[in-house]
Amino acid sequence: MYDVVIVGGGPAGSMAALILSRAGKKVLVLEKSHFPRAKVCGNSLNPRNWSLWQRHGLAERFNRLPHFKIRGFTLERGGSPVLRHSFRHEGARTVERGTLDAWLAEEAHRAGATFLFGVTAHGLTDSHLQTTAGEIEAPLVIGADGRNSVVGRLSRLARASVACGRIGWQTFVDLPALDDHVHMNVFPEGYYGLNRISSTQNTITLVLFAASKVTPEQILQRYLPQASSTTWKSMHPITRKPWEVTNARSWLIGDAARVLEPLTGEGVFSALVSAEMAANHLLSIERVGVRVAAARYRSQHRAFYRMRTLLNSAVGWALADSTRSMRIMQSLEYWPTAASPLVEWVQGAAPRPIREEISISTP
Ligand SMILES: Cc1cc2nc3c(=O)[nH]c(=O)nc-3n(C[C@H](O)[C@H](O)[C@H](O)COP(=O)(O)OP(=O)(O)OC[C@H]3O[C@@H](n4cnc5c(N)ncnc54)[C@H](O)[C@@H]3O)c2cc1C
Repeated sequence: MYDVVIVGGGPAGSMAALILSRAGKKVLVLEKSHFPRAKVCGNSLNPRNWSLWQRHGLAERFNRLPHFKIRGFTLERGGSPVLRHSFRHEGARTVERGTLDAWLAEEAHRAGATFLFGVTAHGLTDSHLQTTAGEIEAPLVIGADGRNSVVGRLSRLARASVACGRIGWQTFVDLPALDDHVHMNVFPEGYYGLNRISSTQNTITLVLFAASKVTPEQILQRYLPQASSTTWKSMHPITRKPWEVTNARSWLIGDAARVLEPLTGEGVFSALVSAEMAANHLLSIERVGVRVAAARYRSQHRAFYRMRTLLNSAVGWALADSTRSMRIMQSLEYWPTAASPLVEWVQGAAPRPIREEISISTP
């Protein structure tokens, strides 16, 4: 018998499991894959994430994961640089998602959460979850099962979907000479992010208009002919209308609750923050009652996403039409400094150098 059952063991699910377990709750996490598993993602974590690692005493151990330090952002139009910005602060990292997610799950397990890997949830009745491992009693369910959330649909928190005309792709590429910037290239059929994730590995994440007949491999050949790729993985949808985040019995966190265009490299941060919010409100149920806790989560979640949605909608609008996006990029070429403050803001650069912050959290 568990107090909370979490479906999905990605960053959102593991963070919620860690907080709830540390507070003494009996938590079960169901994860359909076996870790470490690959994930379509740019693998970049902006400096904002440090505040979370520190709050939960994880900064030291996060710092020991194999990583690469990202020191700047280069914006390109059709492969030619428009803006090259060096971050004013240290702290942006790339960590391979297989490594990151397995580590977070291990941290949650150490805090007392039970994980069942290779188990898929597919049904939800009043107080039970139907899974490939049988029926499980679940008084409270957290849906941390990503952008195509089954829990969201089963608990009727999902809204009718609007077709998303873009598809995400990812692969690892061999580019030994790549520098320590994230490279974002906008071209008529979409855009890509290219960055190092270790001293030997690089990754490219592509977002292509579904209507454009071009393949990811053709884009690679066009802009990075020297790169050789392995296997492409795809992801859909790229954005989605916001869903209701809770009906008091089911609570959605991470991508299950909200999906924004992956432009700002904030998906993991947002997943962790929403997990933290939901876990804290779930822990307040005994004090304030489930309805008040749920209402507070709803409104805090909405407030957290307000500014992010605005920025994402603006960039999404700019990118939704290829002619429009190319014109905007053309004008940026004449006014490159306009984008630098925005880049710093999106990065959420820490007010103090990161190393200093890490030493604060050293026990
Ligand atoms: C092209 C692209 C590039 C991106 N680049 C970045 C980036 O550079 N930086 C960044 O921070 N974010 C990036 N993101 C966003 C980021 O990947 C997500 O926001 C993040 O993974 C959300 O975490 P999550 O825990 O909510 O969901 P997920 O990481 O998707 O985890 C969900 C988990 O649930 C499991 N699951 C699903 N269904 C079930 C089920 N029925 N039963 C049991 N388990 C289930 C899955 O196996 C998975 O492990 C990118 C996204 C895309 C599409």
